[in-house]
Amino acid sequence: MTQTTRTTCPYCGVGCGVLATLDDFGVVTIKGDKEHPANHGRLCSKGTALGETVYLQDRLLYPEINGEQVDWQEALAHVAGEFKQIINAHGPESVAFYVSGQLLTEDYYVANKLMKGFIGSANIDTNSRLCMSSAVAAHKRAFGEDCVPGNYADLEQARMIILTGSNTAWCHPVIYQRIALAKKNNPDLFIVLIDPRKTQTAGIADCHLAIKPATDSILFNGLLTYLNANGAQHTAYTQNFTQGLDEALKVAQQTAPNIAQVAIACGLDETDVRQFYSLFLNTERVVTAFSQGINQSSSGVDKINAIINCHLFTGRIGRPGMGPFSLTGQPNAMGGREVGGLANQLAAHMDLENPRHTDAVQRFWQSPKIATRAGYKAVDLFNAIKKGKIKAVWIIATNPVVSLPDADRVKAALKKCDLVVVSDCVRETDTARLAHIKLPALTWGERDGTVTNSERCISRQYPFLPPPGQAKPDWWIITQVARHMGFGDAFNYRSPYDIFKEHAALSGFENHGDRQFDISGLATITYADYQSLKPVQWPVNSKHLRGKSRLYADGLFSTLNKKACFIPIHPKPPGDLPNRDYPLVLNTGRVRDQWHTMTRTGMSPRLSAHTYEPYVEIHPVDAQDYQVKDKQLAIVSSPLGSIYVRVKVSQEQQPGSVFVPMHWSEQFSSRARVDTLIKALVDPLSGQPESKHGIARIEPCAPNWYGFILSRHGKHQLKYASYWARSRGKGLWRYELAGEDQPEDWAERARSLLFNEQDNASWAEYMDTAHNHYRAAHFIGSKLESCIFIGPDSELPERDWLISLFQKDQLNKAERMALLTGKPPVSQEDKGKIVCVCFGVGEKQIIKAIKTQGLTSVEDIGQHLQAGTNCGSCLPEISELLQKVRKEET
Ligand code: SF4
Repeated sequence: MTQTTRTTCPYCGVGCGVLATLDDFGVVTIKGDKEHPANHGRLCSKGTALGETVYLQDRLLYPEINGEQVDWQEALAHVAGEFKQIINAHGPESVAFYVSGQLLTEDYYVANKLMKGFIGSANIDTNSRLCMSSAVAAHKRAFGEDCVPGNYADLEQARMIILTGSNTAWCHPVIYQRIALAKKNNPDLFIVLIDPRKTQTAGIADCHLAIKPATDSILFNGLLTYLNANGAQHTAYTQNFTQGLDEALKVAQQTAPNIAQVAIACGLDETDVRQFYSLFLNTERVVTAFSQGINQSSSGVDKINAIINCHLFTGRIGRPGMGPFSLTGQPNAMGGREVGGLANQLAAHMDLENPRHTDAVQRFWQSPKIATRAGYKAVDLFNAIKKGKIKAVWIIATNPVVSLPDADRVKAALKKCDLVVVSDCVRETDTARLAHIKLPALTWGERDGTVTNSERCISRQYPFLPPPGQAKPDWWIITQVARHMGFGDAFNYRSPYDIFKEHAALSGFENHGDRQFDISGLATITYADYQSLKPVQWPVNSKHLRGKSRLYADGLFSTLNKKACFIPIHPKPPGDLPNRDYPLVLNTGRVRDQWHTMTRTGMSPRLSAHTYEPYVEIHPVDAQDYQVKDKQLAIVSSPLGSIYVRVKVSQEQQPGSVFVPMHWSEQFSSRARVDTLIKALVDPLSGQPESKHGIARIEPCAPNWYGFILSRHGKHQLKYASYWARSRGKGLWRYELAGEDQPEDWAERARSLLFNEQDNASWAEYMDTAHNHYRAAHFIGSKLESCIFIGPDSELPERDWLISLFQKDQLNKAERMALLTGKPPVSQEDKGKIVCVCFGVGEKQIIKAIKTQGLTSVEDIGQHLQAGTNCGSCLPEISELLQKVRKEET
């Protein structure tokens, strides 16, 4: 009997509704929820592949102390005892929690309550610091509260959409799909992309402003100057509902006085800047959506306020189809902000430095003490560990050894720390390797609670799988530790439902309309209603029983005098500038089909098919200058260290800048943690690291050999390879390799790497010693078990056809004969690099179909090959291929 559960995707901040169907064989099928307002049934490739990530290999299933399995009572007592002992000896500031936007709101709430209200320190920070804390600080400066005024429907109602610092096509794909559809329905919708890189999002943009890195504030200050010069001020609005305009305008005029100077500073064409400004001037309904490209900067808060200034100036906020829009990275970054999960926040949008707020929260929690000043923000928190100020840290659902800047310093800090506790669903992560105590947590499909997406929409996540092993919900683990620490009465919850009600009640406690975040209308929700809670946008209170789609429509903000604030913006250069030794700007970001440090998405064969290796993207001119070649390996270095990555030469990359994805950990590659290269420079207000602007140099890596292994086995000894990257395929693992040494006998080495002695095992080999080629395949019976290809350079056979052979129980004679050539027999097609992961459609197939069938649109291609007709994440790439072929033909 199958059972379908309505739940929410655990990846990005879009917060799509998902229907998960579990069948009798434990197979999970995923569909988009047509009733969810975020996605109306759409899902991207990551959401669509969720069913491939729910299985139990590599899960942490039992509590462990120093690598030994223990029972929960021992683990909980140990954690609580150690924390108590350290607090008694060194005070509450000597301990910390580092949590995550992956947590559900209920988990987040109790973690924050324990640290701030009972331990009495604000040393709890979250990996959301790395994705949107600049937006939080900017919202607070402008509106008096961290509120996103608009909603996703504004994207459909807008006449102009500005996407700045956002590769929406890859990072918020369902938002991209909504924008693409809006554009199709209304060809007059004008889309501007502001990004140093020509990302896949450029496919729907009418205008791409390939801005010089880190000059966004100048561009938006220039816009404010221009709007003023052209009479665009909404005088009634600015007079009645805002303050600080004169100073903000004066600074804008000083720093970005005219289009010509803006264009020079931003590295843009004057005509393009003029067109952008003029369209903004003449279009009432403008949404400016921004994401990590703006936030992850040492002046990210200023950049956001420069954007907000333009919207306040024109009164374009809080009404349909307009407003600044922060696209959050994580599924519950917003929920974390609601509960005060950042070290400089209290719960329920209250402030640590406000005695009225701390008093209210303490009385509400009936807590013995309460933190009254900000704790360490993420980067400072790990510095404090390194310095020995923090002696115990509990890391929950995150992997800072990969994701924080100066990541090797984070690793060194954890190695020194007296007590490292890690709660995670995965047994082996780069961070969990350093844990003294590991606590097994539930994950998506098992957890129960709520999340809030980028548009303030609270949705439920429901369990549909049984808890595996002894894994427990995070809220349970945290409250059990609290009980063992002697705070039992305040943490006596029986379920997430109890916690949610308390969280909702606190949001309305002594609120008096001061705080927009008010879900007190849900404080008395029944258990049955919580179990069937429909997505709802906060606030939800006596005035807005069904939630509220937009904030600040009445012009009344959350500041003391209810006026929004213009902020004077003095544009600042990035923290680190390229120099003779490190001449390149290093930009980090995401790829289409991976999420964070790949602990979940790296398990999915489908998601691993698109980008299977860490890479550096570089402009052809730079590639030539630095003598690195497409598909070969390169060493990218910064003053902090170096990494090994594959070179991808691309016209879309701006000269002088390189791009490296942030996902690869030591679990998936030998040395590709890009955050080991990024200095821990942060925005002074938000503490958000400048992950979009490091400095680097690049040089060729000259291994003696390149190679790859395809194997049904996941753990091969790769000690001979100086470079390796592994990825999941369907029924196999793929290893890309390179090495410095030159073995005398490749056959012997290959056998030691690959072959298990078995009665019916056999292998086929090809060796060309003169040209340094070695190829071998290992069979059990007539089933291909593994194969290895080695050559003197990176020109090795395409992997896709070889990978397809692992789907077969036995190979026919032609396939067996063709195998070591690496090319399919004449009768079989080589698909090329997979573009559409849902239907396994490759680049070569698409190009061939365009050429031979005369296809002229992505819809045509969808009809012929199905490509792009499910999740749609590959549509921008299909469109690029179409344009490429057309260009070649003409
Ligand atoms: Fe999940 Fe994709 Fe929706 Fe983001 S856009 S919530 S990753 S399905």
